[in-house]
Amino acid sequence: MRTAYCYHCGKSHPIELMRQLATGTGKRWRCIKSIEATKVSRETRDAYGRKITEINQIDNEHRARFAAAIANSRRSGIA
Ligand SMILES: [Zn+2]
Repeated sequence: MRTAYCYHCGKSHPIELMRQLATGTGKRWRCIKSIEATKVSRETRDAYGRKITEINQIDNEHRARFAAAIANSRRSGIA
């Protein structure tokens, strides 16, 4: 069985489970498993980032609405 050294794991895997990637220092082998794992973690991070953006937007809307409500009550002489 042909194997190649996986620069990500630091050990050899069967070549069928690997992809050859072009890097700054030349072509390197990396296993599909580690590539997929990186992709998944990036997607998870992106999803987390989107969630935070969403929360911030909601927060800003609430703040704007609250400020508007205060301004309105001042104008009508309630506060
Ligand atoms: Zn690997």
